[in-house]
Amino acid sequence: MSELQPVRVRIAPSPTGDPHVGTAYTTLFNFLFARQQQGKLILRIEDTDQKRARRDSEEMLFSTLKWLGLHWDEGPDVGGDYGPYRQSERKEIHQQYAQQLVQQDKAFYCFCSAERLQQVRDAQRAAGESPGYDGHCRHLTQDEVKSRLAAGESHVVRLKVTRPGQVTFEDGIRGPITIDLKQVDDQVLIKSDGFPTYHLANVIDDHLMKISHVIRAEEWISSTPKHVLLYQAFGWPLPKFYHLPLLRNKDQSKISKRKNPVSLNYYRRKGILPPAMLNFLALMGSSFAEDQEIFSVEEMTARFKLNKISLGGPIFDMVKLKHLNQHYIKAMGPRCFAAHVREEMYSQDFLEQIYPLFCERITAFEEFVDKTSFLYNGELDYRDLPIVPKKRTPLETKAAFEKLLEKVDQADVWDVEFVEQMLSGVQQELELKPRDFLMPVRIAVTGRKDSPPLPQSIVCVGKAMTRFRLAKACEFLAQLEVNPS
Ligand code: GLU
Repeated sequence: MSELQPVRVRIAPSPTGDPHVGTAYTTLFNFLFARQQQGKLILRIEDTDQKRARRDSEEMLFSTLKWLGLHWDEGPDVGGDYGPYRQSERKEIHQQYAQQLVQQDKAFYCFCSAERLQQVRDAQRAAGESPGYDGHCRHLTQDEVKSRLAAGESHVVRLKVTRPGQVTFEDGIRGPITIDLKQVDDQVLIKSDGFPTYHLANVIDDHLMKISHVIRAEEWISSTPKHVLLYQAFGWPLPKFYHLPLLRNKDQSKISKRKNPVSLNYYRRKGILPPAMLNFLALMGSSFAEDQEIFSVEEMTARFKLNKISLGGPIFDMVKLKHLNQHYIKAMGPRCFAAHVREEMYSQDFLEQIYPLFCERITAFEEFVDKTSFLYNGELDYRDLPIVPKKRTPLETKAAFEKLLEKVDQADVWDVEFVEQMLSGVQQELELKPRDFLMPVRIAVTGRKDSPPLPQSIVCVGKAMTRFRLAKACEFLAQLEVNPS
């Protein structure tokens, strides 16, 4: 690749739920690099997994990244010369390129059933081998393929990996990485539903969108050899690869919602300011200057060194985040302070949304702050509240909350109808009396015995904060079991 090639970087999120802090982290580093190099940042939606992708998640992602002040130059919402920027709208392009590989004998049709593939994997495991595709359909004759396709047999398209051999690529942060092709499967390129896999669509689109640098999370390193094989099969030049270190919990494990909230919506609701969040994310993985920790986006852009990103697992440290946030609150000045409170806490939309919940519950506005406090607080104090119903144990209550948490995590929508169904579903599944389930949930989510109707309250608290409080209530109940009050 020529050094003169303009810098074009991208983020390629899959819209499958609440926007994740990891997405903000990757976006920030791409954003800084694009600005510094006077390049372009592209936002491409990777929604080829039709079972999981959702249009409302996509909108939530746009608004959350914009809230953070991260903007892109090309994308589904802003357009650009290399669209469409939603992969589901590029299916024909992907199929066409897959066909090209089949015609060149670099890819093949595979008609193996899921059961057969499972049996093969089981047998390989039993023989102490690593599981993988056994090449069964690699050598079907053209006539056989034609007649099976004509008969409408379910099939996928796979890449024909030529073994033995190795694949090597350069990671701009880690150096050269070599993988033996024994470890690389004849990957599926087109799935049985006709949609491309992540690997195929990602490579084709990065090439067609003229991406010069692929800056993405470490978890994609294991996919990169597959991508390199695809670039080679097509005869295309490789972009430069940079895999950012994973964000970690304090105990070094990969950041996950079990240990820390990971939804950006949670941090927004908690009242973290965008510059504090960006500053915090930037410090993880990049040392701009040893003796300074507060950086504006301009300073970050000027000092950012893509190939000097540190690989020591950056720790997602809440204490540090709050410390930075405090700095930005002190620095915001009265005008910004007032604007923030008005727009983020008492916005017209939010106040209109909560009006039906409180209009009958306050006789004068002196009661407003107290009655609505559960909408604004973060962590609640359960110590003097009957969170465990009579005749039930803390562990039983905790189990009910855990079941509810599972449903919260699967939630695609967050409205009164959904929350009502979710609550009654869990209550029936666990065969609990309403008062043995709904009162503990009310206390866990609102910290009060007398909140407005529960489903409406849960909707207004928001999914991310509801999740956080239920998880905290579980921790409280676990403690209570060991240490009854
Ligand atoms: N769709 C992948 C994701 O959800 C993109 C990974 C990449 O950047 O290649 O993160």
